[in-house]
Amino acid sequence: MLEARSINTYYGPMHILKDVSLTIGQGEIVALIGANGAGKTTTLRSIVGLNTLKSGEIHYKGERVDGLPTHEILKRGITLVPEGRRVFPNMSVLENLLMGGYLVKNMSLVKERLERNWTLFPRLLERQNQLAGTLSGGEQQMLSIARGLMSEPDLLLLDEPSLGLAPILVERVMGVIQEINDMGKTVLLVEQNAYLALELSTRTYVLETGRVALDGVSLELMENEHVRRAYLT
Ligand code: ATP
Repeated sequence: MLEARSINTYYGPMHILKDVSLTIGQGEIVALIGANGAGKTTTLRSIVGLNTLKSGEIHYKGERVDGLPTHEILKRGITLVPEGRRVFPNMSVLENLLMGGYLVKNMSLVKERLERNWTLFPRLLERQNQLAGTLSGGEQQMLSIARGLMSEPDLLLLDEPSLGLAPILVERVMGVIQEINDMGKTVLLVEQNAYLALELSTRTYVLETGRVALDGVSLELMENEHVRRAYLT
């Protein structure tokens, strides 16, 4: 479904992504793990065209998409849920969700997607009229995922959805990601919490200082000596 071929990205003179290649198959949950600053966020930003590639190619559903403007890439069915629960704090939960579906002109489709979000996130339904800025951290995380779903993406890019959440909420968020995948959505999950990422995903890429150091079936990587020492202890 998505293939990055040997991509290189810079911030000014700093070479961040170094020949990163990865593939994501339809229906998979693929994880991208790595230490702080390894280049995980930059990989997501590169996929949606927020960072320009110096070289390499990105193909999505058989079409080359690197070089296209971000809105054109998103229009093809990709959504990025950025790190840090960026909700609109002075808008209600419902208004935040409607913002996520603003490109959808068909109101019955918007309603349908809202209903599905209420089923996935009953807590948001209870709080639909509350200002998003007054929600707890976990609820804001749910809201940013729910907002991402309003555009009905085929591929959901999630940047550190567990960051800063209490363990019980982390579990809930992970459960929701699994449900979203069960609905047929493909997921690329960026996580610093390697244990969670390996547990939830089918395949994992390990990024170290901008390079793919290792990749493989998540269950097998869990047993890998380097992964265990560097990420699971
Ligand atoms: P984190 O978990 O901390 O977000 P990450 O693996 O997602 O880490 P990136 O955010 O992709 O890492 O950052 C990769 C490298 O690029 C880091 O060295 C970071 O300092 C640098 N970097 C990120 N954003 C910028 C920017 N806007 N300008 C300059 N350098 C940046």
